[in-house]
Amino acid sequence: MSDPPSPTSLTPALIERLRAIVGPAHALTDPDQQLPYLREWRDMYEGRAGVVLRPGSAEEVSKILALAHAHAIPVVPQAGNTGLVGGQMPMNGEILLSVGRLKRVRNVDAIGYTMTVESGLTLAEAQAAAEAANRFFPLSLPSEGTCQIGGNLGTNAGGVGVLAYGNARQLVLGLEVVLADGRIWNGLNALKKDNTGYDLKDLFIGSEGTLGIITAAVLKLFPRPVEKATALLALPDIGAALSLFSLAQETAGTSLTAFEFMPRIVLDFVLKHVPNARDPFSARHPWYVLIETSALKADGSAEGLLTGALETATEQGLILDAVLAGSLTQARDFWRLRESISEAQKPEGGNIKNDVSVPISKIPAFIAEANAAVERICPGARPLPLGHFGDGNVHYNIAQPVGMAKEAFLAHWDTIVRAVHDIVVAYGGSISAEHGIGFMKRAELARVKGEVQMDLMRRIKAALDPKGILNPGKVV
Ligand code: ZN
Repeated sequence: MSDPPSPTSLTPALIERLRAIVGPAHALTDPDQQLPYLREWRDMYEGRAGVVLRPGSAEEVSKILALAHAHAIPVVPQAGNTGLVGGQMPMNGEILLSVGRLKRVRNVDAIGYTMTVESGLTLAEAQAAAEAANRFFPLSLPSEGTCQIGGNLGTNAGGVGVLAYGNARQLVLGLEVVLADGRIWNGLNALKKDNTGYDLKDLFIGSEGTLGIITAAVLKLFPRPVEKATALLALPDIGAALSLFSLAQETAGTSLTAFEFMPRIVLDFVLKHVPNARDPFSARHPWYVLIETSALKADGSAEGLLTGALETATEQGLILDAVLAGSLTQARDFWRLRESISEAQKPEGGNIKNDVSVPISKIPAFIAEANAAVERICPGARPLPLGHFGDGNVHYNIAQPVGMAKEAFLAHWDTIVRAVHDIVVAYGGSISAEHGIGFMKRAELARVKGEVQMDLMRRIKAALDPKGILNPGKVV
């Protein structure tokens, strides 16, 4: 590797040359205009950019990177700026390259069940493009109105549809990527079968902009589910969720499309802080599961499968109570309880975040052990284990003890996170299930992954980005 890239090489003369590439309206140096790109909604990172560039085509991205590469100027790519680990933030005055103007739907092939879209399309816009062709794009996240396809693929996003359809990686057939030196790799193939050497697209997916900048993708589409049945279930303990999940899979098979879990304290936060949130049960229960089945025909089969599973679960004592959504509105209300959890945590003060996964059968034991570790380190801290049960994905967040100063609690961040990660690793789990590594987990990644894996990752980085200009300080 040559000298590490430095933002100080971003001279006014170079900024003028970059401005000429994207046009004056799309090269932002004014702090007020830059602000939306440099703040993220959790207020954990505040970025600093030498210039914010908003290219309108892959060719413009290519010209920017060719120039940045020639002068060894670091570049931080950004899509919808909804990332949770700081991966999208420039920290040292780098070029911030927003893909937000790359918004074309290049092609929808309803017969081939694929669509080719550019990386600045929001996830909701991509879903709508599929729906307009009577097809279904199943990636689904609470931030789907804001997050963009480039970020979804760059971070291999998960969300609430992974159980039935897989995460972002499983939904991609091909990519167009601008490489660090400005060359455009056209890997936009729409083939289900392609065994011609190394799978390059899977290198870029989940690389968080450290290996290349995704400008377009061929996405997989699915038949549109036309009937859904949704229920909120009350459970006596988290062990019951494990038995219930197994039962629901046996009963509903691939029609089981969601299985989300949360403890009572999380529902309490939502009821307290989210306007118009309502507890559908009259009694308090220790745990809740949001379950959903889907069907391709409107013949009552989605509801039949769900009620069948719930009857057996009641007989086996796995559920204490259940409310089946009687209308679309009620189903949306149930989902809103789930999707407003993030915002409901904020008013409770300091919050230590863990996005981890363990084998499904280990979720109850992991939670018990992690809770005990947290209590030892910071007595009174309030664990909020919730998430996508069917993916083994626990958002093991921890709210500060009531009455403690926020800063005093957050001072425990590294100690608590390391303790949780050690338990995760002992159970054969992952320290980042769906949020990525970014800036936040870089040191932890190097700590928990073996030297061989880190060495391979660094070699790949050096091969694809020899000057180290792409998203420096993130991931590796
Ligand atoms: Zn999640």
